[in-house]
Amino acid sequence: MNIVLFGPPGAGKGTQAENLVDEFNFFRVSTGDLLRIETEKKSLLGNKIKETIDRGLFVSDNIINELIEKILLNKKYFNRLIFDGYPRNLKQASYLDSLIKKYKQKISCVLSLKVDQDVIIKRIVGRQVCSRCHSIFNEFFNPATKANHSCDSKFLKKRSDDNENTIKNRFFTYEKETLPILGYYKNQNLLYEIDGMSNISTIYKEIQRIIQSLDT
Ligand code: AMP
Repeated sequence: MNIVLFGPPGAGKGTQAENLVDEFNFFRVSTGDLLRIETEKKSLLGNKIKETIDRGLFVSDNIINELIEKILLNKKYFNRLIFDGYPRNLKQASYLDSLIKKYKQKISCVLSLKVDQDVIIKRIVGRQVCSRCHSIFNEFFNPATKANHSCDSKFLKKRSDDNENTIKNRFFTYEKETLPILGYYKNQNLLYEIDGMSNISTIYKEIQRIIQSLDT
């Protein structure tokens, strides 16, 4: 089964995707992470991508779709992908459908995390990501401690787009471009709405319940 995790920036998609990766044999596809790898190379393309990300805008569909096809054609990940941050507009959703068909795979569900905007801002401003193990923490809600994180604290990084100015643009882009995808997946009977305001483990229990209820 392949799963799409859907929700606004800061909804907790990455955290829940990592939970699924730890428990099941899933592979997380975060287009944001793939793009950040490119920006770290400081290539011409990487610098252009960083500029777009820091403005809270979307990177071009061509770049994103190419990244996604490379993953879908890889037999290692066959039918065990968690999409986090993709698709982000209707064109990407329909392109994903065509790739899923082409590589004879299946999207089993779209899990939509619903979170209020004021909570999201706190989640984003406090977010820290470990550059070594990819765990995601939050200074306010879920701080890294010796008990939950074994890497050195020097690996904890803040994202350059996690600031209040960029967040406003990211929200605007989300509402305009990404939200319409919900209707697209609802029509395909793939959509499950989840209260993303609860704590991490309660949300994860709901995700487990939904996955267990699916046929495949
Ligand atoms: P994320 O890590 O998912 O919050 O993504 C960070 C930023 O990367 C976004 O604000 C966009 O600028 C860019 N990005 C990530 N995924 C996509 C996508 N599927 N389409 C376009 N831009 C994306």
